[in-house]
Amino acid sequence: METLTLQLDPERPQEDAIEWAASIIRGGGLVAFPTETVYGLGADATRESAIQKIFKAKDRPADNPLIVHVSDREMLSLVARNISREAEVLIERFWPGPLTLVLERKAEIARSVSAGLPTVAVRMPKNKVALELIRRSRVPIAAPSANRSGRPSPTSAAHVARDIGGRIDMILDAGRTTIGIESTVLDMTVSPPVILRPGWITREMLAGVLGKVENAASEEELRRSPGTRHRHYSPRARVVLIERASPQFIAGLLARFLESGPVGLISHTVVDIENPDLEKIVLEETAAAYARSIYSRLRELDEKNLSVIVVEGIDERGEGAAVMDRLRRAASEIIEGDG
Ligand code: AMP
Ligand code: MG
Repeated sequence: METLTLQLDPERPQEDAIEWAASIIRGGGLVAFPTETVYGLGADATRESAIQKIFKAKDRPADNPLIVHVSDREMLSLVARNISREAEVLIERFWPGPLTLVLERKAEIARSVSAGLPTVAVRMPKNKVALELIRRSRVPIAAPSANRSGRPSPTSAAHVARDIGGRIDMILDAGRTTIGIESTVLDMTVSPPVILRPGWITREMLAGVLGKVENAASEEELRRSPGTRHRHYSPRARVVLIERASPQFIAGLLARFLESGPVGLISHTVVDIENPDLEKIVLEETAAAYARSIYSRLRELDEKNLSVIVVEGIDERGEGAAVMDRLRRAASEIIEGDG
């Protein structure tokens, strides 16, 4: 299959391009599109055969449910039922935005979207291309991240093409995504609500509106968000995460790894080693900087066939929690460090 890529203006997406993409969605095809978090791989959420194509293109396990994207409050009524007062308040406050709500599903939504669960995850993205595509398609769009299953989520159209080019109908390219990591997933079918996946909308922000919010702690809770069980977001190379460490500690570790081959480093600490076998990437020590570039930097280093990629963690408070969650999932090994 040939995958068509259309370049779009992120601020004023060309109407004819959006209409073309919408006609593919309405015809049961697959279109990758940008959201404010990462690129999504979209299909008509009400059509079982279209949803099956998503699982196939991504090699996604069938027990990993998809997030449904809507363009307005009215469309939400086609997706979910018994929407609570609390959910309405969150929608008012955080949509459009990177908050996914798990609600009771409506029968109109294709079964495999929910992977057999009685619930559905839904959000309204804050991205003009995404919103226009959904609006013109006139159906809710199920869209997981547009990467090959198990690979880091795509934050550019080039990442999508590299992973699933030739397996989907179209890619809408509107540049890099702004946030860079996936949405917060909040289960609203339990009381108090439970965060199944941390994201840019933090626990503190949710608690400020709802009062009590919990983090998924138990296995039982995580079973309700099957995707969180799978190894995720990982490049091919061995990834070693250092939670907190001094420059000396990091330098010592790198020296050891360099004995067995080329090494990549993503850090906020500037490490004083010059070695042609060491690829260094320095990021600003903020959650925003890490979120925006971590997936693309992991992909970039992974193209270089390194034996190890070392990543230095950041402070876990606020949005840092979501970044550290993704880094731990990408890591094959976690080292506490001396910090
Ligand atoms: P992705 O869009 O690839 O980031 O994956 C969506 C994630 O949302 C899945 O991995 C699940 O963990 C979560 N999710 C989707 N639907 C549900 C649901 N009905 N209940 C709980 N979690 C869900
Ligand atoms: Mg994903």
